[in-house]
Amino acid sequence: MPKRQNWHIGREMTYPYDAPLPQKQVAYIFDTNKCIECQTCTIACKNGWTSGKGQEIIFWNNVETKPYGSYPMAWDLKLLEKCKPAQWQGGKLKSETIFEDHGLLDPPTGHLPLASDYTSVNLGEDDISGNVGRGEHFDGVHPMWMFYLARICNHCTHPACVAACPRQAVYKREEDGIVLIDQERCRGYQECVEACPYKKIFFNLISRVSEKCIGCFPRVEKGEVALCVEGCIGKIRMQGFLTTQSKPREDNPLDYIIKIRQLALPLYPQFGTEPNVYYIPPIHVPDGFLEQIFGPNVEKAKAMYRNLKEDKQLLGALLLFGASQRMIDKFKVQGDEVIGWDVDGKEVARVPFVEPTVVRDAYDKKFDAYRHNTT
Ligand code: SF4
Ligand code: SF4
Ligand code: SF4
Repeated sequence: MPKRQNWHIGREMTYPYDAPLPQKQVAYIFDTNKCIECQTCTIACKNGWTSGKGQEIIFWNNVETKPYGSYPMAWDLKLLEKCKPAQWQGGKLKSETIFEDHGLLDPPTGHLPLASDYTSVNLGEDDISGNVGRGEHFDGVHPMWMFYLARICNHCTHPACVAACPRQAVYKREEDGIVLIDQERCRGYQECVEACPYKKIFFNLISRVSEKCIGCFPRVEKGEVALCVEGCIGKIRMQGFLTTQSKPREDNPLDYIIKIRQLALPLYPQFGTEPNVYYIPPIHVPDGFLEQIFGPNVEKAKAMYRNLKEDKQLLGALLLFGASQRMIDKFKVQGDEVIGWDVDGKEVARVPFVEPTVVRDAYDKKFDAYRHNTT
């Protein structure tokens, strides 16, 4: 069986599908500390791509509240129960991925949700991790917690969906690593739905074929970010390309945040698909819970985030989130600003470290009007 190096798990693994790796890999960073679960991303995607028949309960982008939210219902719990607990030794996974500990022709470890599992998209929304006792008040520490986890297809480097499809209808593009389904080839066997550990392939009950997030490829081909990224009100998202064929570049904001500084972490790296949506973990949530979701580097990432004020280069890269509808290929901190350039070398973002304060006179001479501070 082919072997693949998987940097998320610090070792080689078996992967039951032989295909060249992409020249560059589309990737996303979501800062969970900033998400307000407004669902603008969900609606941006839905309006753009999934407003047709049979797509009523299909959300290529969804945002769920952890620890109790999940769409489809219990997608992660069901798989965690099927797998042995993840065991890490430093950055190396000692336990098996979903591709390992199998017979040669067996599909990846997975499960097939029921149609009813997709009907309660926001179940568990805003539920916290426990009960707040009578008379308790906030004293600087949150004893209870929850956080919002925005989810799209991860355009995995070793996709389980591609490996599982008996008709090779699911494929990964060599030019940018986007994973797509050829719906003409799909016969609706749902092997991909069962195999995807993130449950980001959906079976359309009307068209009887599977579908998934298309990574907004028509926009990406023009150098633009996806609809769910552009629409994000909290500016929690950044999209661009990870360097795959050579060393990560210090001036590529995605290489820098993900690979060089490792502030943003993959979702359930123990599954082994090398997902390409990376999350900055929520700093108020206990490490134990986060390590199960984001792997062993959580503590370091949280410490780095808390220290951002002293870390101008990293803070500069983060200031570029939501700053342009173009994907930023290169960035530089210059004085009190950070500048971003697109792949054509055009400046597309310039963000100051400190927003200027403007104090207006109470009397506006131009309009002969008095302005009141209403806050
Ligand atoms: S638009 Fe942004 S802030 Fe709002 S829910 Fe989506 S990811 Fe979170
Ligand atoms: S998240 Fe699922 S659907 Fe998307 S590439 Fe990975 S395995 Fe395939
Ligand atoms: S990348 Fe595009 S298709 Fe995928 S979830 Fe975001 S908006 Fe939807």
